[in-house]
Amino acid sequence: MYLIHLENLGIFEIRRNRQARKLSIRIVHEGCFRVTVPWRLSEKDIMDNLKKMESEILKLKKSFLKKLGNFSLATATVYTFLSGSDFSLNVEIIRTPNIPIEKYRILQKGPELRIFVSNQEHDYSLFMTAQALKTITQEMGKRYIPLEFNTIAKKTKFNYDRIQVRHQLTRWGSCSSKKTISLNARLVFLPKKLRDLVYYHELVHLKHPHHGTAFWNELEKYVSDAKKLDKELAKVVLPV
Ligand SMILES: [Zn+2]
Repeated sequence: MYLIHLENLGIFEIRRNRQARKLSIRIVHEGCFRVTVPWRLSEKDIMDNLKKMESEILKLKKSFLKKLGNFSLATATVYTFLSGSDFSLNVEIIRTPNIPIEKYRILQKGPELRIFVSNQEHDYSLFMTAQALKTITQEMGKRYIPLEFNTIAKKTKFNYDRIQVRHQLTRWGSCSSKKTISLNARLVFLPKKLRDLVYYHELVHLKHPHHGTAFWNELEKYVSDAKKLDKELAKVVLPV
């Protein structure tokens, strides 16, 4: 895997794949294009292909930026991670001319964390900001989500076997038949009431694997407005 940068188009992560018949391209959540290419395709052919696909790439990029919504690098942005808990952390993004475009720097003082990125209007600074945010998300999630979850689990009669935390794009959590609970590191972005909803949701799955009436009745014993909060959760859009 390696990265290339094409002016006006963005950053491309090139991955060679023995099974790939032709070059394919998709945008991943950091705003980087992931390009899968056949094993033997030459560097020149890859570049030629990408240039030919310019209008397709621009279309992908446009829809990505639309989805990104108000995540703007134009001004300093602050996120509160794990709000409402003892581990709460303010993460501030600061754009500065002192950082090279392909780097970021993280400084933490107690509950304040600053991510310094280049102030250049460039895909690379968007990419590096997303990378830094994702790194913090994973670290905070792995460290603190199990602690929070355990505190909630003790309030119920359910026992889980193991918990794992990963950065995932599709699900907030899941519960396996072996009683392993998986939780999404991105929960750190959510307010406390929504994090708790996800924790209780997965705990109730230890007894009721499916989302039937019994599941919801049990969940509502712990979270009275579970259905309303569930709708709120479905509307959440996150930066990384
Ligand atoms: Zn579920």
